[in-house]
Amino acid sequence: MPPSKILDGKRVAAEIRSEAAKEAARLTEDGHAPGLAVVLVGDDPASGVYVRGKETAAREAGIREQTFRFPTLTEAALLKTIDILNRDDSVDGILIQLPLPKGISTQKVLEAVDPKKDADGFHPFNTGRLVQGKPAPVPCTPAGIMEMLRREGIALQGLRAVVVGRSDIVGKPMASLLLASNCTVTIAHSKTRDLPGVCREADLLVAAIGRAGLVTGDYVKEGAIVVDVGMNRIDRAEDVARFFPGDAAREAAFRKNGSVLMGDCDPSTVPARASRYTPVPGGVGPLTIAMLLSNTVALAHARAKVRRTE
Ligand code: NDP
Repeated sequence: MPPSKILDGKRVAAEIRSEAAKEAARLTEDGHAPGLAVVLVGDDPASGVYVRGKETAAREAGIREQTFRFPTLTEAALLKTIDILNRDDSVDGILIQLPLPKGISTQKVLEAVDPKKDADGFHPFNTGRLVQGKPAPVPCTPAGIMEMLRREGIALQGLRAVVVGRSDIVGKPMASLLLASNCTVTIAHSKTRDLPGVCREADLLVAAIGRAGLVTGDYVKEGAIVVDVGMNRIDRAEDVARFFPGDAAREAAFRKNGSVLMGDCDPSTVPARASRYTPVPGGVGPLTIAMLLSNTVALAHARAKVRRTE
């Protein structure tokens, strides 16, 4: 049988989670049980689901996790909470669930987190270190993609990489990591001219856009590696029929739930052109939480080391 074209994020995520659990157990034995504080402000239902996923994963890995839920909170009170967590010695990693409600400055809040406890790698200090190619906590989604590419044995040096999307949490850090791995990197976005042509230059194409099925087979060079970060819900029967022709399971899921999840890549045309690709779901999604655990354990490890030398 030929090797699978699928880049199996689920399998790699399970590996990373089990390694993080082992490291958490070792640190706990040494008297430094890793601690993660998650702060959730507001009542966004999707954020609630993500936070529950993080809580479960952290607990399964043996990380002491505590979620601070505030249905409403002023910016000043949130900054005060972060200050308390920064000074709490039992907390190694702090995660502020985004998006924050209107009226609270995301930048101010992220900058208030101690860079040494920055579980999501969103603090500008750590962004700067990442751009300089220095060790730092790295945003979980692009960090997970790099781990998957490494563990799937993909040699990156010299590849032409195109990242579509320039957000601070996915596109830009992804581009920095690929550059640090000696790819020749292009970042494309909504103002890019001839997006299909730019994408066709890529040996490695990363789609982090948030537009269901925007990347079709004619954006993909024959044999390219395609990583689909997008998580989009489609809720029109004609879109389900177009993107998943003859897929009885998806049609059944659509009839049951009224929508189905899909990525930024058209699953009916992209896999045929790609040499390797990530499916949605089961590709990039599971890696994000796995890397949160890995980042938290790494922060705990670094803090335990400092404590030993004090
Ligand atoms: P943002 O909305 O912050 O950024 C989207 C980027 O895509 C922007 O840079 C935007 O360009 C670009 N873009 C939008 N439309 C087009 C277009 N028509 N052509 C070219 N570029 C376009 O999204 P995120 O980076 O936060 O997330 C991207 C996707 O990844 C979403 O679907 C999100 O749900 C998913 N995601 C998945 C995760 C996972 O764990 N699997 C984790 C995080 C995100 P411009 O800057 O010019 O506006």
